[in-house]
Amino acid sequence: MNWDSSEINSLTDMRLKRINTQIKWISNVQEDPEKNKRLAAQECVVCFYTTQICGNAIMRYDCQKCGITDTWPNTCTPKLCKACSAELKACRSCGADLNLVERA
Ligand SMILES: [Zn+2]
Ligand SMILES: [Zn+2]
Repeated sequence: MNWDSSEINSLTDMRLKRINTQIKWISNVQEDPEKNKRLAAQECVVCFYTTQICGNAIMRYDCQKCGITDTWPNTCTPKLCKACSAELKACRSCGADLNLVERA
């Protein structure tokens, strides 16, 4: 690399983009702009607004509460089945409270 200004500018640009991505993420988790969609997906704000890299494959998973085996359309399989997530009001992906409120 010859470290001219165009090289440094391109690296700087990458870093600025990264900051903007993080700012956008913080604002999404705080403001929850797609709350209805998120609740329909039964996910907490962290899981819903975080971009996950998922492989395209039909996967089997076991619900960690009731043990039922179900299929999922990609490799980012959930922890809970739809019914257990609804019953516990917990995030399907990670199992935390759906609104990230600590319980007594
Ligand atoms: Zn279940
Ligand atoms: Zn979650």
